This record gives sequence, structure tokens and C-alpha cells, in this order.
Amino acid sequence: SPVADNGRPFDGWMAIRMTVAFILAPLIYLCILAMKRWAERENLYLEMSTIDGLTRLSNRNSLITRGQEEIRRARAADSTTLPPLACIMIDLDHFKQINDTWGHHAGDEVLVAASKVMMENARPNDEVGRYGGEEFAVLLPGTTLVQAKLIAERLRKRISHMAVEVDGQKIEVTASLGVACYPSPGVEAMSDLLKTADKALYEAKETGRNKVVSA
Ligand code: GH3
Ligand code: MG
Ligand code: MG
Repeated sequence: SPVADNGRPFDGWMAIRMTVAFILAPLIYLCILAMKRWAERENLYLEMSTIDGLTRLSNRNSLITRGQEEIRRARAADSTTLPPLACIMIDLDHFKQINDTWGHHAGDEVLVAASKVMMENARPNDEVGRYGGEEFAVLLPGTTLVQAKLIAERLRKRISHMAVEVDGQKIEVTASLGVACYPSPGVEAMSDLLKTADKALYEAKETGRNKVVSA
């Protein structure tokens, strides 16, 4: 027992208890602090590696990863018909001209406004991402080509009607969209899906812009 015959605790015992308390308490506090910092930094790194800094949409990498996961899940599904995965590629028209006319900051605001419209147009399970520059992509799990074309048409209209006002000036914006779907002839992987949607988008550009072309 740490208590002496006279009922008082041993001085040595008290000294050990005090030492442990004074050393352990700050150590535990420092450990908790370090773990909190570590968790914050992990979250930050995760965000930086998956989210686009300007538009707050998924970045290209996380969009492709999501598409690959969806295709893997579709293949693994225990059914004879694969659940479809549609992809809409969106490219803002004459965006360089917007930058040149109104300035880079106005271009950035247009990108943010277009992203907002895409997010508002998307369903909870859809993935909206910034594919690069003024190019975006929307992945629509469980959506057929015909359904995706209707969604793309609605999105095109909303982008052309959106009001982007910078420094008191209204900027007109339109977009061209390409739609493709997995599975379909020649579309067996995520890379095929993106390539096919991009080809349709290219056709939309070539044939007049501000339109939707489905593969
Ligand atoms: P098209 O209708 O054929 O798509 O023509 P476009 O002008 O939209 O396409 P182009 O590829 O010629 O130009 C894209 C421009 O997008 C060039 C680049 O400076 C601009 N851009 C890319 N990323 C950003 C960005 O984050 N902010 C701003 N403001 N501009 C960007
Ligand atoms: Mg463009
Ligand atoms: Mg482009």
C-alpha cells in the first residue's frame, strides 16, 4: 500500500504520482493535437486530389475513377442486361473570346456559373466534373442514351439562359454537348465512353455549336 502506518501517503509515492501526471498529461494533450492536425491535413489532401479548386466540382481524375467504378459495378451486377452509364461531355463555346473580351476573371465567373447550373441540373447519384479548362463531363448511372440526350438538351438550354453578370455587363454563354452511353457498340470501358462522348461533342462543334449530338 502507498499509505504509511500513520495514514499518510508515502512521499516517494506522491512524487511518482506527480511526475507521471505532469509528464503524461501534456504528452496525451500533444498526441490529441497531433492526431487532429493529421486528420485535418488528410482531409485537405483528399480534397485537393479530388476537387477542382475553382468550380468545386470533381476533378478529371475522380470523375474517371467514378466512371470506372460504375462500369465495374455494372459488370459485376447479377443480371443479363448491363445497367447503363451515360456520359455527357460539355464544352463552352468560344470561351477564349469571353476571356479576351471580358478578362480572365470574367471567364472564371462564367466557369463557376456554368458549374452551378450543371450541379443544379444533376441528380444526387450523377457525377459532375471539370474535365479540363472549359470542358466538363456528367456521368449518369442507370441512364440510357435517349434519356441522357433529353437531360443534355435541358442542360444546354439552361446554360444558354443563365445570367452571368460581370462588372454590370451581361455575358452570353452557350455550350456544345456530346452524349454517349455504356454499353454500346465500341464502348466497353470508361476510356471508350469518354472518347465516344468527345467525338459526339466534336461533331456538335463542327456542325454549328450550341447543340447536343448523341453518339
Ligand atoms: P470552341 O467553341 O471551339 O470550344 O472555342 P473555345 O474558345 O471555347 O476553345 P479554345 O480551346 O480555343 O479556348 C479555350 C480557352 O479556355 C483557352 C483558355 O485560356 C481558357 N481557359 C482554360 N481554363 C481556364 C480557366 O480556368 N479560367 C479561364 N478564365 N479561362 C480558362
Ligand atoms: Mg470551348
Ligand atoms: Mg475545349
